[in-house]
Amino acid sequence: MRVLIMADMEGVSGIVHWDQVSRGEAMYQEGRRLYTEEINAAVRGAKNAGAKEIVVVDGHGAGAAATMGGPAFNSLIPDLLDEDCEFVTHHGWGNYLEMFEQGCDACFFVGIHSMGGTPNGVLSHTISSQHWYNITINDRVVGEIGIVAALAGSFGVPMVYVTGDDKACDEAKALLGSDLTTVAVKKGLSRHSARNIAPVRARRMVEEGAKRALLNLKKVPAFVPAKPTTVRMDIVLADLMDPYRRIPGVEIIEPRTVISRGADFLEAWKRVSPYK
Ligand SMILES: [Zn+2]
Repeated sequence: MRVLIMADMEGVSGIVHWDQVSRGEAMYQEGRRLYTEEINAAVRGAKNAGAKEIVVVDGHGAGAAATMGGPAFNSLIPDLLDEDCEFVTHHGWGNYLEMFEQGCDACFFVGIHSMGGTPNGVLSHTISSQHWYNITINDRVVGEIGIVAALAGSFGVPMVYVTGDDKACDEAKALLGSDLTTVAVKKGLSRHSARNIAPVRARRMVEEGAKRALLNLKKVPAFVPAKPTTVRMDIVLADLMDPYRRIPGVEIIEPRTVISRGADFLEAWKRVSPYK
């Protein structure tokens, strides 16, 4: 069994503040350790369910420098990672598709946050709150869970497991169905505060959930948006609109709203994704 673990930081137990997830900030090292250990828990769970190839994608910032400018940084601590996984860094966000293309049994999203605008969603945003206000697929507002699930689904790969705060888990179930396995490691009290489950116990829960998800693999279908597919992006600032004006096939329908239509999600998404 081959499993891809997409990982993000903001949904990890103990992480509630931007300083824990931002390069150079004093609390960042604490955040990196919490993040890496929670990923390890998911890796152990996948191994316990029989996964033989496990690839972790560092989906928090690593890779942003190459595609968006700015300094490079890693969020994973490689030395702490479980020896039975391999890991991808510095690949543009959501753009590591190799595993999906080759055929992969399941995708996890570990440590994910809720979409931008979610009430009491810890560190809620959609890709970057400085760039995107809302993203929709076929008129349904989605967050990063929906986008990654649709990328995986484009290759027939189901997203079977989501961990994060309670709001991210609710968002995932609303989109992917009640058979989806989720583990909430904290309850969001505001955008910057949570009631957390102690990381040691949270990791046990994440490990058990990962195993359960893979044992229930067949229950959750791949998420494939209806075709043809429309991706709409509401952009925060007018000055961020210029790159979209130069993309063939992309329409600007309002001063800060772009639409990309494709035969399927992948075609529509690739056109407007900033991560090539
Ligand atoms: Zn993140």
